[in-house]
Amino acid sequence: MTDAIDAHIRKRAAMEDTSRDLAYPPSPEALVVPVYDNHTHLEIADGENPLHYREHLDRASAVGVRGVVQVGTDVLTSQWSAAVAEREPRVLAAVAIHPNEAPKLDARGELDDALAAIDALASQPRVVAIGETGLDYFRTDGGGRDAQLRAFEAHIEFAKQHNLALQIHDRDAHEDVVATLLRVGAPERTVFHCFSGDVELASILAERGWFASFAGTVTFKNARNLRDALEILPRSLLLVESDAPFLTPHPHRGRPNGPYLLPWTVRAMADTIGTDASMLAAQLSSNTENVYGHWDDHPVIAPGDPWADRPEEGDAAPAHHDIPGDPHDFTPSAPEPQPDAAGDH
Ligand SMILES: [Zn+2]
Repeated sequence: MTDAIDAHIRKRAAMEDTSRDLAYPPSPEALVVPVYDNHTHLEIADGENPLHYREHLDRASAVGVRGVVQVGTDVLTSQWSAAVAEREPRVLAAVAIHPNEAPKLDARGELDDALAAIDALASQPRVVAIGETGLDYFRTDGGGRDAQLRAFEAHIEFAKQHNLALQIHDRDAHEDVVATLLRVGAPERTVFHCFSGDVELASILAERGWFASFAGTVTFKNARNLRDALEILPRSLLLVESDAPFLTPHPHRGRPNGPYLLPWTVRAMADTIGTDASMLAAQLSSNTENVYGHWDDHPVIAPGDPWADRPEEGDAAPAHHDIPGDPHDFTPSAPEPQPDAAGDH
């Protein structure tokens, strides 16, 4: 098939980490009221039997996760995200140059071209967000921060020009992220993806009407600060995400992640704020649609053969565009380095 999409275009470096359990966890009990995963990376192969994105979506549908926002981190993965969203009704796309990619592109003199490519992708109808973009002071040191900031500012402008949501990656950079948003002017719908702040940042979000998207980290035993923040946030500003294949929720931490494991995170969030999972799920779904629109606002325009890009039994694994390491894994307030946090960027 000429229009077939590669099942995966990146491979998780931590797959070589033999201390991890590389089996996908079993499906949790289905949610009664469905939710959306507003941040995932289905183009990344992880685990001993990497799941095709359609398999991910089928598993997710079966447990009440009815759609995902598939997020790009460079030009290639943003193109992939937009292409999948174009033909898969359960997928909407976000496009951006990740804050840890921007300095590398800048050093090669390629950042402006990459930003122009993101700007072009942003006009596709099923691209609903600019992200993930932002500031990452954990993996990028002083030398790369100018390029990072320039890219962040450009992405904020794209979101406003195209009237799209903004998905922010903020790692160890709360103060400068907030300052940049206030200086440049935040888009109407601004989301802190994988919210990693405390009560102080949560109150700034509450005051500004910015959204906090919680990942599996909120289920971790040592993430008391995240649960404190969750408790004080207005429920109308809450979103939930897998950030798969990273940040697998408790009790499967460390194993490959997928949107189908989101019920664990939703139930932990409901416990934290003292409501039941169905009440919270209804709120989360309505918030998600407020930020990104409905999944069928723009029909898929190139459905093709829905089975065309599903690999045949016995097919050789697709070639991987290998980006070592990953920019996402982290554990809030965990002193010990994570197994897959070392060795990149
Ligand atoms: Zn991510």
